[in-house]
Amino acid sequence: MKLYLRGHDCRYAMEQLQLSLFPGEPSSVAEPGELPAPGEDLAISQLSAGRQWLTAVTAITLHGQTHRVARRIPLTDDERLRRRLLQGCYYDCALRFLPQAPAWGALSGVRPTKLVTAALLEGRSRDEAGRELRQVYRVSPQRAELALDCGEASVRALARTTPEELSVYVGIPFCPTRCVYCSFISRSCEHERHTLGQYLQALLDEIDYTGRLLRRSGRRISTVYFGGGTPTTLDAGQMEQLMAALERAFDLSHRLEYTIEGGRPDTLSAEKLRLMRRMGADRMSINPQSMNDHVLTLAGRQHTAAMVEQAVAQAREAGFAELNMDLIAGLPGDSFDSFAQSLERVLALRPENITVHTLALKKAAALYERREGLPPVETVAQMVGWAWQTLRRQGYVPYYLYRQKYMSGSFENIGWCIPGHECLYNIYMMEEQQSILALGGGGITKLVKDGRIERWNGPKDPLQYLSRPEELRRKKDEFFAALGR
Ligand code: SF4
Repeated sequence: MKLYLRGHDCRYAMEQLQLSLFPGEPSSVAEPGELPAPGEDLAISQLSAGRQWLTAVTAITLHGQTHRVARRIPLTDDERLRRRLLQGCYYDCALRFLPQAPAWGALSGVRPTKLVTAALLEGRSRDEAGRELRQVYRVSPQRAELALDCGEASVRALARTTPEELSVYVGIPFCPTRCVYCSFISRSCEHERHTLGQYLQALLDEIDYTGRLLRRSGRRISTVYFGGGTPTTLDAGQMEQLMAALERAFDLSHRLEYTIEGGRPDTLSAEKLRLMRRMGADRMSINPQSMNDHVLTLAGRQHTAAMVEQAVAQAREAGFAELNMDLIAGLPGDSFDSFAQSLERVLALRPENITVHTLALKKAAALYERREGLPPVETVAQMVGWAWQTLRRQGYVPYYLYRQKYMSGSFENIGWCIPGHECLYNIYMMEEQQSILALGGGGITKLVKDGRIERWNGPKDPLQYLSRPEELRRKKDEFFAALGR
């Protein structure tokens, strides 16, 4: 389905909207001046200005059917209003082809909460922000409430830091084995222990170099997050080296939290958990994804649900007062009953955070081609609905969310927490109001300054990371130079 833009260059927003409203249709954008081919599936989005009115017209032709919609507003130069007019017009036209209105309406981005947070920070009330979501973007009342809850949590979390502070991400793109749904470039450690050792050495060098730049900049660190991969793939000695290097190079005395993802319980031990707690980590993520052993085996994981329970008990004994656990709705071999039982078993452990993901089928994942045993989208919807009800009943509230392309149905990933136990890093990363400094492979460094965001994707593959030390240093120099004091 080719998108033709006439009289405006709102390319990115319109393309994203088309992709999200017609996910099953191959989509592209026509070059300026390009003419439609006969019989082509297409959308034409046109904007024209008269003396009094700004008029948008959308015409969509799909599978032999054509619909056309026009909308107008008083003449304006306000870019935001022009974009809304174009999006609203396209959305109304697209609705004529859809079996039902999408839950997120005309919102196509991965971070719907940002809109609410911005409105609340500008001084608008919850009611006003909710009205904008429902009336302007046609978001369903249920999703609007979800976004409002998350937006309010963001405002509280942002009040605890300043835009001048930084969050630090440390990437360890290694895992014990590869999950079938994984699309990250994460090396399996079954055959690559030696690469992990080299990787750690390069990371220690990068930390040391960056620490000197950071001290000179005078910037404070608000949160630390070890992600991956599975950072706890490092053995206890390697983890101690890494955490000690970070402590030496960076002043972490003002940090609000220090999180380590220990996604796979087969990478955790009582000794390693005690060590991480002693070295300053105060939040662990132990992610079962499912508490059904058969589903875990099909997912390519090498642990059982009982091992998850044991790791959680060991983390509590080690002194971790903040735990997150992830579940995925839509895994191969899973059913509604088995998902509900997984949720019950996780709830029995009373983690402070539970993140409910919906399976996203990405091309790089082994599951993408096979697609065996996937529950139907209606079952996934039931699972997600059940999680919403059950978590609310048990006193959890949503505090952050993001949407993904290729996700099963029109769903989202939601972080739930016992009130007051939000993971601040997740919020800061999602809201993009604070710079993120990524170290190691697989992270995204974000420079947030004067209302602009610059992103730099670090090398994803550990071998690429090892081969580019000069580039990594140069990027760090540029980051701190642009950040200023
Ligand atoms: S634990 Fe996460 S990063 Fe590792 S293989 Fe599984 S999905 Fe990928």
